Amino acid sequence: MKNISTIAFSGGVGGAKLALGLARALPPDELLIVANTADDFDHLGLHICPDLDTITYTLSGRANRSQGWGVEGETWNCLEALYELGGPNWFRLGDRDIATHLYRTQRLREGARLSEVTAEICVAFGIAQRVLPMCDDPVSTIVGTAEGELPFQDYFVRHRCEPRVTGFRFAGADRATMHPELGAAFDSPDLRAVIFCPSNPFISIAPMLAIPGMTEALLSIRAPIVAVSPIIGGKAVKGPAAKMMSELGLPTTSLSVAKHYSDLATAFIVDEMDSDEVACIRELGLACEAMPTLMNNDDDKLRLARSVITYCHDLSR
Ligand code: GDP
Ligand code: CA
Repeated sequence: MKNISTIAFSGGVGGAKLALGLARALPPDELLIVANTADDFDHLGLHICPDLDTITYTLSGRANRSQGWGVEGETWNCLEALYELGGPNWFRLGDRDIATHLYRTQRLREGARLSEVTAEICVAFGIAQRVLPMCDDPVSTIVGTAEGELPFQDYFVRHRCEPRVTGFRFAGADRATMHPELGAAFDSPDLRAVIFCPSNPFISIAPMLAIPGMTEALLSIRAPIVAVSPIIGGKAVKGPAAKMMSELGLPTTSLSVAKHYSDLATAFIVDEMDSDEVACIRELGLACEAMPTLMNNDDDKLRLARSVITYCHDLSR
């Protein structure tokens, strides 16, 4: 981990967009991408890791761009056949995607750790960057809702994020161990930036911060910690982040996301559309800049990655 200059914390779709930009902007051995695994679950006997898979599919050019999850050019034969048998089809699993879950499940049963299996998948997919699960231990997001607690995928997929959210807990996080490779990366003499990708603060970034020792480790590093807002113009680009914020009684602004990170982060990046929030965010004691953060294509991802890296380097001067 000697060469790591940049650590990116990522959830799925939003995080993977910036992670792809960073992967194009930096030499491969300088980037460590840490993935949320609290969305992981067992389904149909398979161990499914949605955020890890979104990242590896995105980095290897396999991701389905219009759908926002899964694999491009996917077929659905297995799920259709399963449904004919009376099996569940609420969690959409394509044929090629199933191969990933079969491989991972088999390797985990053989005793491999999730981080090892992820490294194997990266090699098979031709990904040169290190993609690391936040830990090798099972951690599960449980969503508190007005109708009671729901396991994350029940809330997210089966109930389409409809129940009103009252809070979150990350079952197993208190017994999880931060991955030693991440600990080593935090100690890298070359470390110049820790980036919180524009991922959902409550269900993608928060579970990673819930691992014992994680916030302490982050607070002890000298490199700047820069978070990119997933909220643009009062709305989430995709997904339930803004809905969750309003249900939790928070204004759906970048300022509220900045407040959420203000004890930990050095700096916060908002979209140029929200430049009127920069002054208030600076009053929280965070450095703050506005820049274009909407990533519609690969050029946008690379441009934002370069801007974030340059900003981090300016901050550490
Ligand atoms: P998930 O695990 O698939 O839900 O993905 P993440 O947690 O990594 O990302 C979800 C967040 O990404 C949402 O809150 C979106 O608002 C945000 N997001 C998606 N695309 C973009 C983008 O192009 N720019 C910015 N700033 N945020 C984005
Ligand atoms: Ca996710």
